[in-house]
Amino acid sequence: MQILKKDRKLCPGCGLFDDICICHLIHKTALKTRITLLIHVKEIRRLTNTGRIAGICLENSSVIIRGQKDVVNKMEDILPDGYAHRILFPFASEELSPEMNYIEGKPINLIIPDGTWSQAKKIVISENYFHSIKRVRLPPDAPSSYHLRKSDNIQHISTIEAIARALGIIENPEIRLDLERVFFEMRARLIQLRGY
Ligand SMILES: [Zn+2]
Repeated sequence: MQILKKDRKLCPGCGLFDDICICHLIHKTALKTRITLLIHVKEIRRLTNTGRIAGICLENSSVIIRGQKDVVNKMEDILPDGYAHRILFPFASEELSPEMNYIEGKPINLIIPDGTWSQAKKIVISENYFHSIKRVRLPPDAPSSYHLRKSDNIQHISTIEAIARALGIIENPEIRLDLERVFFEMRARLIQLRGY
């Protein structure tokens, strides 16, 4: 994608170029659910990465950057105490449902591997502690309105759309609408920048 230009500055808030910044649209949303995003270091630097934007929008969320040289991710950052952990993964046998907002008396920590199918698969098989965590999938929904990239994302929708849909089920429909509003604006600005 030919949208990086040397003479433009990146906004330190949203990571988009200054002239297409969407920070003014972002209001931190409080959550009972914890969202833990696992993003590869190469992926987070991409302008079209929507997981990073979701992390900025959500209060009880954590963006864990994978694949950094000499940095070992701490298990307690990915699997904090006080939560029931689940990984959002396609083809999981269990479907996400409203009852999953509390499991065994605990709120859910929804772990979301960001990136392509092979990147996400690598992440969940890379650490032994992931092997015992149950996986959940999103129920069928409308096709993605994601047109920033060719369909390479593991969920076949952008990461922020996957998070929006998940939180729409286990938290409330307004959170989904809020995140989708931010995503649509981001997409519109990037499409405008790209010139088609
Ligand atoms: Zn910004």
